[in-house]
Amino acid sequence: MEMNGKPDVRDWFPSEDGNPEQRERMMELIEQLVRGVDELKNPDGVNLKGEKQRNPDFYGRLASQSVIPSEGVPMQEVNEELLKLLHGHPYHTKYFFTNILPMASIPGMLGMLTAMLVNGNNLWDVYGPAGAEAEVRVIAMMSKLVGYDARLSGGYTTWGGQGAVFSGLRIAIAKYDPDALKHGVPNNLYAFCSEAAHYSLLKSVEAAGIGSDHLVKVKTMPDSSMDVADLRSKLEKAALSGGVPVYIVATTGTTDAIGIDDLAEIRAAAEETAGRFGLPCPHIHADSALGGFFAFFNDYDLQENPLRFSAGVLNMLKGIQRKMRLLPLADSLCFDFQKLGQAPYVSSLFLLKNAADLRLMDLEADETPYVGHRGYGEYHTGYTLECSRMASSISMYSLLLSFGAEGYQRLLAQFLEVNLRFRERLAAEIPQADIANPDNPGISTLIRIYLPGSPRFSEEVGGTCSARDIERTNLLNERLFEKLGERRDRMFFGDTKKHLLAGSAEGQEIPLYVSKFFVISPHTRPELVPEIVQYLKACISEVCEEFSVSLAKS
Ligand SMILES: *Cc1c(COP(=O)(O)O)cnc(C)c1O
Repeated sequence: MEMNGKPDVRDWFPSEDGNPEQRERMMELIEQLVRGVDELKNPDGVNLKGEKQRNPDFYGRLASQSVIPSEGVPMQEVNEELLKLLHGHPYHTKYFFTNILPMASIPGMLGMLTAMLVNGNNLWDVYGPAGAEAEVRVIAMMSKLVGYDARLSGGYTTWGGQGAVFSGLRIAIAKYDPDALKHGVPNNLYAFCSEAAHYSLLKSVEAAGIGSDHLVKVKTMPDSSMDVADLRSKLEKAALSGGVPVYIVATTGTTDAIGIDDLAEIRAAAEETAGRFGLPCPHIHADSALGGFFAFFNDYDLQENPLRFSAGVLNMLKGIQRKMRLLPLADSLCFDFQKLGQAPYVSSLFLLKNAADLRLMDLEADETPYVGHRGYGEYHTGYTLECSRMASSISMYSLLLSFGAEGYQRLLAQFLEVNLRFRERLAAEIPQADIANPDNPGISTLIRIYLPGSPRFSEEVGGTCSARDIERTNLLNERLFEKLGERRDRMFFGDTKKHLLAGSAEGQEIPLYVSKFFVISPHTRPELVPEIVQYLKACISEVCEEFSVSLAKS
């Protein structure tokens, strides 16, 4: 279609009438992109192929070169430009172990596409009925999975595990003081999480105006779970000084070590202390952004073992199941479908045991003049921080139907199986390495290496090592980060400088540096483990040798 020699503006849009010509044009453009990515794939490395040089001057040059073209170019040519963005992009091959950065699955992408084809606004069911329907369904499905009463529970899709932690905090404040929405946040409120918690709560207390001085960090146990005795004493301390604990974030699946807090113990500590001081029980949010998907095993029969998982995986599942069955003790929780749910970004679900809590946050009808009236039912999202919302629930719905409970069980069990074999092989092949999260049956294995004669992991967490020894081992591990980093186009490992706090003999608390083997790609199969360990072994030998030489010189 041409008008005055220019393309018709309608060419940029899907057709109005469903004509096959426009559909074919659109499908060709999509096919061009999908084929283009396929042509860049390299299963022997971690990055897509391509020419991109991302040197220090890269962004500066982009900024100076980029201007809006006065006339647009054909979409095929734009697609070529889009594909160039992907050159050298990390891709989830079997060698991708860096962190909880999953691949977007086909059902997840199809759900997003479905949402885009009508572009409904999830703000209001009249604007986005498909998103509203999917959201109500997904909330009920996930409520039943974790053991909430789906007739009473509620929630919404939001911006990440971070958004869920923040949503929980807003509700926590409003539950304690419903007028805080009007007169501002009282200055004696406190929030609690463990030292291994994600920084989401830090940002939330800053943003909500509670202030990070009122965020209390609770000690962790060697398995990275919250030390509940320490929680108890810190709740008491806050209450004794006239403070009000309003919010406890229990991490059910920490981001590095996959430690799981015990919700039964946390709830008991919260209720007892609150009762003793005549305060209401704090709102307890289970930050299950990462770990929540292990609730898919809550009903798995470990005796019958219908999916024939290995004995090692069953053993891991036993510990996971015990703690995940406690999830319904939380007042709210989160499922990050963009993590283990295998959906594209951004797709996280905030789930609330009592939907009625949302009323505390809701705006009055006269404050939302655009929406909310004459809807189909009860659906009205004046309580979300976002105004317009994407219908990511459609992607979640697509995934839950495609994978089913069994599909999630098989995928997650594969991640566990790879870790299990990795741990066995590591122990057998690499004497310099210790596993720094040995008690966490999870999908990530933390690796810490040592020079001969240095005190090992179990001694470090025992609190008897000198600061000098721990710091020297940290330095050695940092060299390993560098070595693995230089070669990350071959295998992409993660690392962290904040695993656990080891007490030194001198009484300092020192975080341990560890490398991270995070299994997240469905293409990482158990058979690959020997090759990975051989690779790691070579890198570790080089690092230890180089480090010893540099020590001898200094
Ligand atoms: C990833 C993560 C978050 C943050 O989630 P986003 O989706 O990145 O906002 C919060 N808590 C935990 C435990 C996480 O693993």
